[in-house]
Amino acid sequence: MPLRAASAALLSAGALLLGSVLAAPAQASTIEPAGDGSCLTAGTSARGLHGRGADTRDVSAAEQTRITRETTARLAERGLSRSAAAATGGNVPVYVHVMAAKNGAGNVTASQITRQIAVLNNTYAGGESTAAANTGFTFTLAGTNRFFNDTWHKDRQSATYRAQTRRGGANALNIWIVDFAPTLGIATFPWDYANNPTIDGIRVQYSSLPGGSATNFNLGKTATHEAGHWLGLYHTFQGGCTTRNDQVSDTPAQSSPTSGCPVGRDSCSLPGLDPIRNYMDYSFDTCYRMFTSGQSARMSQMFAAYRG
Ligand SMILES: [Zn+2]
Repeated sequence: MPLRAASAALLSAGALLLGSVLAAPAQASTIEPAGDGSCLTAGTSARGLHGRGADTRDVSAAEQTRITRETTARLAERGLSRSAAAATGGNVPVYVHVMAAKNGAGNVTASQITRQIAVLNNTYAGGESTAAANTGFTFTLAGTNRFFNDTWHKDRQSATYRAQTRRGGANALNIWIVDFAPTLGIATFPWDYANNPTIDGIRVQYSSLPGGSATNFNLGKTATHEAGHWLGLYHTFQGGCTTRNDQVSDTPAQSSPTSGCPVGRDSCSLPGLDPIRNYMDYSFDTCYRMFTSGQSARMSQMFAAYRG
């Protein structure tokens, strides 16, 4: 589905494709095993030069209910109420895997990686807006590995390369930096870790790192967005114009992903303008400003339940 598209025309096409993607689990280019976050590979949708594609696996409303029950049960096993778990945050070790081509394409610099970690820390600390929540999550670079493999660079054999290279436990964020443009990023969810631990983490388009060449998407906030999924957030447009929506009460419902930065967009008759500045929408990096306190609480709960 065309997301983070550059034009209204593409956004319109995206809304149409969004419906078809969500309604049709079998997609021609699906190459990953069940439980993986990916649905589309680069070049298979009409979203234009940049977009995130279907960057997580689809989760139905019925499964959302099941996940909520499981989360509450897991927190109870740990002696935590949902409210007690809502403010815990966490320190996340980060392993970066640079999947460069043999000729060096995609071999991002150590400086870019340092800046990417800084962006994660600033965005999760609420550093971009006085309205933003400080989530209590911090990120520390635990290791960088570089590979020069054309197949892996193009994100082929991803289940294999992730299993061979992933490091750390459930609390470790593994970031594989690849070239799957126009896709910007793909993530796994925390509740899938137990069944698929070897592929857990996020994949990020190398040109989206700070200083990269992805116009409008090169401030490093794709990693912020994908890490949000990894910590258990849905898109702000999950469920469309429904009260359930993304199961976060302070992110107003929206009918479809945002493209660009259309201030004042209001795509649902439910209360509130679309949260176009939220990291879990699909707006430009320059438009992104915040997580909400509701999202912060959900991420802490998910981390305690599945990654603590
Ligand atoms: Zn996403």
